[in-house]
Amino acid sequence: MDLTIRNVSKTYANGKQALRNVSLTIPPGMYGLLGPNGAGKSTLMRILAGLQQPDAGEISLGDIDVRRQKEALRRTLGYLPQEFGVYPKSTAEDLLDYFAMLEGIARRADRRQVVEALLRQTNLWEVRRQKLGGFSGGMKQRFGVAVALLGNPRLMIVDEPTAGLDPAERVRFLNLLSELGEQSVVLLSTHIVEDVAELCTRMAIINQGEILLEGEPLREVAEL
Ligand code: ADP
Ligand code: ADP
Repeated sequence: MDLTIRNVSKTYANGKQALRNVSLTIPPGMYGLLGPNGAGKSTLMRILAGLQQPDAGEISLGDIDVRRQKEALRRTLGYLPQEFGVYPKSTAEDLLDYFAMLEGIARRADRRQVVEALLRQTNLWEVRRQKLGGFSGGMKQRFGVAVALLGNPRLMIVDEPTAGLDPAERVRFLNLLSELGEQSVVLLSTHIVEDVAELCTRMAIINQGEILLEGEPLREVAEL
């Protein structure tokens, strides 16, 4: 099941053209979207997540028309924004339980199972009773992944996840993402060359709203 992007363009109200005729076919696995700040990555990610409308173009995920079938998209998509907003006074366990309830898991015992599995998968089990306000950037990001995974997404969109993480957290987070890449399409936006070179099976480079290059990342890129 591919994510297919055809001729997507977006100009903001201030006249800034953020995306110019972007076309990409993204297969299952880890896919990197690499580009400098201001290249248009977040704009594309928000459009793919159905949070923003493009001016033109078509996007499909398998047989879902992303621009029109919002409900079907919501059920197959996990979106981790650049800054995952958390409720600082809530514990990881309580908030995840709450999101699981919103996801429609009505029985408390069922939620407990799901919540435990996700907290273990994201390496947050030990800190489940701590308040989110005290979490480090990396812990918040991993909590964001746990929330995004609640709906068993077939497409996971992750926007600049390693910005602001310390090296140990970065490695831990990227390992978590690569596990997810074994089950679904994971689209990773980043300005860090190594994130893509180390993890992704395919990549595209975006600059000033245009795709410059698409293909397999050269391992040598990591040496740059
Ligand atoms: P990236 O995520 O690669 O840093 P963005 O998609 O955030 O790039 O931004 C692409 C361009 O569009 C930048 O020049 C940015 O300043 C501009 N931009 C982003 N969001 C808006 C907005 N809401 N209104 C106007 N311009 C915007
Ligand atoms: P990024 O790190 O993705 O480039 P920014 O820090 O540029 O993100 O933007 C953060 C928020 O501000 C986004 O919601 C974006 O849409 C908005 N934004 C960015 N550039 C502009 C702009 N020139 N005018 C209005 N809003 C903007």
